[in-house]
Amino acid sequence: MVVMKETATEAQINHVIERLEKAGLRAHISRGEFKTVIGVIGDREAIQNMPMEAIPGVENVIPILKPYKFVSREFRREDTVIDVNGHKIGGGTFAVIAGPCSVETQAQMSLAAKSVKAAGAAFMRGGAFKPRTSPYSFQGLKEEGLKLLAQAREETGLPIVTEILDIRDIDVIAKYADVLQIGARNMQNYVLLLEAGKTHMPVLLKRGFGSTVDELLMAAEYIVKGGSSKIILCERGIRTFETASRATLDLTAVPILKKLTHLPVVVDPSHATGKSELVPPMTLGALAVGADGVMVEVHPNPEEALCDGPQALDIQGFKDLMAKIKPIAATLGKKLST
Ligand code: PEP
Ligand code: MN
Repeated sequence: MVVMKETATEAQINHVIERLEKAGLRAHISRGEFKTVIGVIGDREAIQNMPMEAIPGVENVIPILKPYKFVSREFRREDTVIDVNGHKIGGGTFAVIAGPCSVETQAQMSLAAKSVKAAGAAFMRGGAFKPRTSPYSFQGLKEEGLKLLAQAREETGLPIVTEILDIRDIDVIAKYADVLQIGARNMQNYVLLLEAGKTHMPVLLKRGFGSTVDELLMAAEYIVKGGSSKIILCERGIRTFETASRATLDLTAVPILKKLTHLPVVVDPSHATGKSELVPPMTLGALAVGADGVMVEVHPNPEEALCDGPQALDIQGFKDLMAKIKPIAATLGKKLST
């Protein structure tokens, strides 16, 4: 990591990049409020042999020892704020992403989107390509579902978060989505991570239910390698011996991640618990431990949901949850992202 002086000029920064690239190294710029940092990937010896600190504008060179580089706090001290058409995640706000597990009908998606928007959500979710354990379960409406999401965005202005399961669908999903979701089951699908990065779109990356925090960060590093550093990490519960909830929500991962990475971290209390009654307390827990937001499943009629009904809040339940979030966020000095 090459740290440039506060006074470094654009020409000096470009000169450093040219020198690095000439030596066969890859440079990646991060512009902070005061300083520019150039991340360098490549042969350690190639940079050690360069008199970096003698180059005008360079303050110092610091090795990053962690296996992940660009997503580490060492690389970028400030929180990354991801701005999706003016809707933000990260940097001290609390963003609520809400919507049904799956897009089912025009009426369902439209009502869900309008209701979550009215209650204060900043993003909507809805799956059109569903990763189902059984091949006989509802697999999603595919492009038809994406169209219904786009229609709901037109009605509400809320950006769309939707899952991509397979690189073959990337063009069609990128055409409609604002944020690509990579689900727990695909967290280590490295080809998909690279391809998602290549779109330069924001990516919401969910932690695999058998994956460590370090593995999650390495997966995020793949997306950066692909080309996008607009990554939102999502803790969604891990598998343990406990069977009282669908997964075990690892809230400890939130402050750990906030220390290790500059990327925003959100929590999904719906898939973690599998039960709607556990969603409000775990949402408030996520807020208290410093998450940058939550992703919550909301369905106008959970009883009729084609997927994950037992964990979906109904519209009143979501309104009640938002009413609980607001005063606690205010006490913690966090603004709700709109
Ligand atoms: C989802 O959010 O729709 C989903 C399938 O979650 P996960 O990948 O965390 O199981
Ligand atoms: Mn679901």
